[in-house]
Amino acid sequence: MTLFEKIIAREIPADIVHEDELSLVFRDINPQAPIHLLIIPKKPIPRIGEAGSEDQSLLGHLLLVAGKVADQLGINSTDKGFRLIINNGANGGEAVPHLHIHLLADRPLNWPPG
Ligand code: 5GP
Repeated sequence: MTLFEKIIAREIPADIVHEDELSLVFRDINPQAPIHLLIIPKKPIPRIGEAGSEDQSLLGHLLLVAGKVADQLGINSTDKGFRLIINNGANGGEAVPHLHIHLLADRPLNWPPG
């Protein structure tokens, strides 16, 4: 069982900001911005590169949840804004092998990223 499956199962505590039948959103334990959330599917897909065509609507759902949570946090505007990131594999910086979308907000973010 991965760390994030344990969070879904409430075996490890997390600061959860949204839950529905398909997804969970919680605050990152080591935030890289004043708002740093992780949006995860409850289905244990290891990484985006291993998602299949059967996951199409689930992946779309995760992006819509990102927008919904951004609405709730008051950052879904062009003057504020946010960034979504998916790290995949070693060079991508992936540490936890359970698909997650980072949502970073509440400070200006550099481009290109490091
Ligand atoms: P990755 O590097 O795989 O894209 O991101 C994994 C993220 O999970 C990191 O930003 C890290 O801070 C976060 N993380 C690792 N362990 C925990 C934990 O136990 N709880 C929470 N909330 N976040 C975690």
